[in-house]
Amino acid sequence: MVLETLNDSARTTALADEAHALMALLYPICRSITGDGVRQTLDHVNTIAPLRRTEVPSGTPVFDWTVPREWNIRDAYIADAAGQRLVDFKQHSLHVVSYSTPVRERMSRQALEPHLHSLPDRPHAIPYRTAYYRETWGFCLSQQARDALGEGPFDVCIDSSLQDGHLSIGECLIPGQSGDEAVVYTHTCHPALANDNLSGIALAAVLARELATCKPRLTWRFVFGPGTIGSLTWLSRNEGRLGHVRAGLVMGLLGDSGPLNYKHSRRGGTLIDRAAALAMRDHGGHELPFEPYGYDERQFCSPGFDLPFGRLTRSPNATFAQYHNSDDNLDFVGKPALAGALQALGSVVQAVDGNQRFINLSPKGEPQLGKRGLYGNVGGTGPGAFEHGLLWLLNQSDGRHDLINIAQRSGLPFETLARGAAALQTAALLAPAPATAGGHETKAGGLT
Ligand code: ZN
Repeated sequence: MVLETLNDSARTTALADEAHALMALLYPICRSITGDGVRQTLDHVNTIAPLRRTEVPSGTPVFDWTVPREWNIRDAYIADAAGQRLVDFKQHSLHVVSYSTPVRERMSRQALEPHLHSLPDRPHAIPYRTAYYRETWGFCLSQQARDALGEGPFDVCIDSSLQDGHLSIGECLIPGQSGDEAVVYTHTCHPALANDNLSGIALAAVLARELATCKPRLTWRFVFGPGTIGSLTWLSRNEGRLGHVRAGLVMGLLGDSGPLNYKHSRRGGTLIDRAAALAMRDHGGHELPFEPYGYDERQFCSPGFDLPFGRLTRSPNATFAQYHNSDDNLDFVGKPALAGALQALGSVVQAVDGNQRFINLSPKGEPQLGKRGLYGNVGGTGPGAFEHGLLWLLNQSDGRHDLINIAQRSGLPFETLARGAAALQTAALLAPAPATAGGHETKAGGLT
């Protein structure tokens, strides 16, 4: 079974520390849907999970969209007549509306006002705003700073560039024993926001490295790309291979203190839905029905693809007060939350990668487990979880029920049953069931 290390809380605690340290490195970098900030981010991820990089030129058509011009920014500020910076991009990358066009002007407060964004209900926080597909510019600042600006005149500068360039995607490929694939996608386009996108980037990086030390059954692809245009671009470049995708997961927003939330795929009842539902049961999470709003699962689950993709977050988008403002910072993200998310991710990956159906080779009555060293020597006490798992496995392994079915019905964790199945195979009591023609998946049977 892959990722057994993530069943160990000491290991997940150490990995959460490492993920948090990576987030601290990435936090000051100004990211957007394109640009050098994304490349620097991928450089850091590459030190943990080796990435294959793809640079897709501006202007490339992607379904109903087009890869935009590349945006880079060096400096931006609003200064008073004495040259003192009242709003300074170098202090916080959220201060500039992402994709702002260049500006260098002296202007009145009245002229500046339509270009200012603040949060009256959260007066100390800087909002996050974007203008990817509109030619405009703007500054984001706290309501308190806005109230203190004065009447001007102001020197306004945005030293940015919007030029033909590239959109950057990183992909960590972990070859499996089979040609079937699983895909994990996390978005890389947000600037200084910790929970909403850095937690996803950092946890995907450590998860990929951990998985690469195992020998997974499926080939796993961890894709780091911008929201929407990134997943669309990846889909357009991989369209011929999508028939091999057995499961997919969009992950992010995993560091806040809320419970885990798994959002089901459009299709429902697929391998990822069943594996994640089990993980939510065992890690205190919730299940959400599919809806066509959210993150990149929207693209993977669009009807022309209808891929088996779900989404794992803690608090979903727009449901917490720190969402898309400067309060989503490194202090907002807790290491225990990251560690708990890793354990749940480990359970999801274990079930996706290790789900299988078996045949009981000694189905007439219960085989005698004691003489094979598989059952407690002292009679009179009830079986422990492992022995219980053996009984469930032997009883249900008629070739129709897979490990996820048995975990659902027995209430036992997937990992207990996977260990039990390995022991029963060693004892020649279980054998893998022959693959059904076409590897068809159903709610009852599940893909194997
Ligand atoms: Zn977001």
